[in-house]
Amino acid sequence: MRGYSALGVTSLVTIRKAAISKNETPAFIRFCASRFECNNKDSRNPSTPSSAGGPASLSHSREPDFSLNYKSMTSLLSKSRFAAGHQCHKLLWWTTHEPDAAELAPDPAARFIMDEGIRVGEAARALFPGGVLIDLPHEQVKERVRATVRALARGEPAIFEATFAEDGIVVVVDILAREGRTHTLIEVKAATSIKPHHLWDAAPQAFALRRAGVDVDSVEIMHLNDACLFPDLDDLFVREAISGRVRSLFPQISKLILAQNAMLEGPLPEVEVGKHCDEPHECPFKTRCWPSLPKHHVETFYGLRREKSAQLGAQGLARVDEVPATFPLTIIQERQRRSVTEDELQVDGKLAEALAPFRGRVAYLDFETVGPAVPDWNGFGPWHAHPVQFSCHITSPGGGLEHLEWLAEGPEDSRAVMAEALVEALEDVDVVVAYNVAFEKKCLEMIGAAAPDHAHGIQAITSKLHDLLPIVRDLVYHPDFLGSFSLKAVLPALVPGLNHESLKVSEGQTASALIHRLL
Ligand code: SF4
Repeated sequence: MRGYSALGVTSLVTIRKAAISKNETPAFIRFCASRFECNNKDSRNPSTPSSAGGPASLSHSREPDFSLNYKSMTSLLSKSRFAAGHQCHKLLWWTTHEPDAAELAPDPAARFIMDEGIRVGEAARALFPGGVLIDLPHEQVKERVRATVRALARGEPAIFEATFAEDGIVVVVDILAREGRTHTLIEVKAATSIKPHHLWDAAPQAFALRRAGVDVDSVEIMHLNDACLFPDLDDLFVREAISGRVRSLFPQISKLILAQNAMLEGPLPEVEVGKHCDEPHECPFKTRCWPSLPKHHVETFYGLRREKSAQLGAQGLARVDEVPATFPLTIIQERQRRSVTEDELQVDGKLAEALAPFRGRVAYLDFETVGPAVPDWNGFGPWHAHPVQFSCHITSPGGGLEHLEWLAEGPEDSRAVMAEALVEALEDVDVVVAYNVAFEKKCLEMIGAAAPDHAHGIQAITSKLHDLLPIVRDLVYHPDFLGSFSLKAVLPALVPGLNHESLKVSEGQTASALIHRLL
């Protein structure tokens, strides 16, 4: 077996692989990331040495602990809690009273996003020279407020994590910048545009500062600039004023804080499920609240449209195998119905024809990418993914598979080296197969752009690409697909013994096993 260097791969690469895996992203990642878009103040290690009022320091824990966000302020709302309560009182109640709930435990992908939020926060602070950090544990609310008052009295040009406790809420401001006799409140976001819920993040802060008597002239969201490309990071951020929109929310803030605090004093509230379970963030407690549907519920029909769902509901049809053959379905849905009803694999007669091009020396290719919030590769912007790993299995003339892989050895732009390895690995193959080929095509494009010496070889690989996903989707159905054609669903159904856990570890290997089985 040939192979390429797989040594020295950073944990960053590993974590990002999980984050951008073609497998489904856990709901918690989006939930957690949204609350940590830059709010490293909520995720710091409380054991950080205190240096309140000292010179600006960007040193922060690189291992934020999400649960501390809720443990640290047991009797007061924080900005994050307020946001949770604004989405759903039940969500706030659980996150407050069950901070150790399994649903709130961040996985490596969520931690990666939180770490990126910290990097964004550091980059934002660097644009305010002379600023001071309120560097005290977050559970020491009184001390933090006192340190903030002292920093304000000294007239510091900027205060990072200025803390105020007013009217039942504690707010920690990303950046409070002095502008002459007044201040600008800046909420830093790792997003690349303002979202409606960002206003609700900033509003309680502006409200609390007004109650504290701090003169705030302007409220801004400072978010990443999608048009900014490395190495020119001068315009990494965009600052947008939201003062008017935030002030218009003030009349509601006080009532909402009162209602949330009162609710937290009582038992778990009754809240019906609804759209709010996914907006603005997918709730991590959905499995507790949403009724579990039967295994082959009609909602698992692939590509089911809303009106068709309504028709099925009106006829009292709950399971796929209850739907009569006369009910109008798409070709794929009808194959799904037959497969579930007969409880067996359905394969269209055209499969052999579709697989006919998969002849000769066939390579099954898969890439993994990373996409840091603060770009560090030439020509890439915030969160732009770039390839750092490839894995391919190549059929041998005598049968069997040869496995080749290449992994970046560090965070540097290694596309030129990767291109050389890739061209060498695939130079004598006849067909290159991928599952959902658009991703691999994009990766090849990025690699070719950075490796002019191998542009011809990369182009040759691209021209041999074939996509297995539409073949499976259009011609094959197994009852265990459960309405999904993701590799996570398809592979264990077609290749018993390979499960989700193995997919997480090595998706490229599982793709190869799947195509080998189909061929
Ligand atoms: S699933 Fe919906 S109802 Fe339940 S806690 Fe989450 S947001 Fe609230």
